[in-house]
Amino acid sequence: MTAQILDGRALAKTMRGEIAQEVERFHGEHGWVPGIAVVQVGEDPASSWYVKQIARSFGAVGMRCTQHTLPADASADDLAALLRTLNADPRTNGVIVQMPLPDHLPSTLVTDLLDPAKDVDGIHPLNAGRLMQQSGEALVPATPAGGMEILARYGIALRGRHAVMVGRSNIVGRPMALLMLHQHATVTICHSRTPDLGAMTRQADILVAAVGRPKIITGDMIRPGAVVIDFGVNVVEGALAGDVDTEAAMEVAGYVTPVPGGTGPMTNVMLMENTLTAAKRQATQAHTP
Ligand code: NDP
Repeated sequence: MTAQILDGRALAKTMRGEIAQEVERFHGEHGWVPGIAVVQVGEDPASSWYVKQIARSFGAVGMRCTQHTLPADASADDLAALLRTLNADPRTNGVIVQMPLPDHLPSTLVTDLLDPAKDVDGIHPLNAGRLMQQSGEALVPATPAGGMEILARYGIALRGRHAVMVGRSNIVGRPMALLMLHQHATVTICHSRTPDLGAMTRQADILVAAVGRPKIITGDMIRPGAVVIDFGVNVVEGALAGDVDTEAAMEVAGYVTPVPGGTGPMTNVMLMENTLTAAKRQATQAHTP
């Protein structure tokens, strides 16, 4: 068997076109364009690269992106002051803070201070709670939202199927498990204390990995014909590798997201979607930049 590739790169390109049209429509209606602010503390090269990617991609669809870099030794008060300024700025509809923060800055500072209406990364407890309660008002973390969009656009139904989520982080595994549950999948969540991972993953109709360990999912852990969604981003000998042994998965599974070119490009697009959603909500609340 050779699995069908779930082509996140192509899908992301299609969606960027759709978003650009939406932004144009939004501008026609309101006279301003949605904007995101990206906050970075310190100048970690990987983080700086990601911020540049965001700026470029937002620019390409006609949205604003402002970058705010604080020195690595910035104080909690400095970061709090910046967040308060961005919360109050009507031209900023979404705010993301690059993680991890330097050790002396607790990440709870961000979740405590960030306006939930501008939380386009979906990290605020209010958005997490709304997601748990299946409220349409939730801003959902971009990576799992992208995984769900891939499933939806390829017409892969979850209702009544067994989904196995490997990983339970607040930004990927846990929200993805909830999103699949909301689509009526029967969901099993595995993590580092799951004793026999393969025994669980072999039961999956939909197998999702968000672990951060290259090729932790081997071919023999995949049920024949399963849908495999790989969120893993690992660098192995200078090249990107997922959490799934893609080559082996292609022999067994029915559908596979490749790395690179699967879930990764969708994260960026869903961040745009979230920013557009946040801007639309703010526009209806008499928000005028
Ligand atoms: P975290 O490190 O926060 O979470 C990893 C999860 O994997 C934890 O729940 C952990 O369990 C679990 N885990 C660790 N080892 C094992 C094991 N041996 N067996 C089963 N489960 C295990 O990572 P993230 O969720 O932030 O990221 C996961 C991956 O997704 C990374 O490769 C990251 O780079 C990538 N990523 C990709 C994005 C994209 O756009 N595609 C965006 C964000 C992340 P426990 O809770 O018990 O510790």
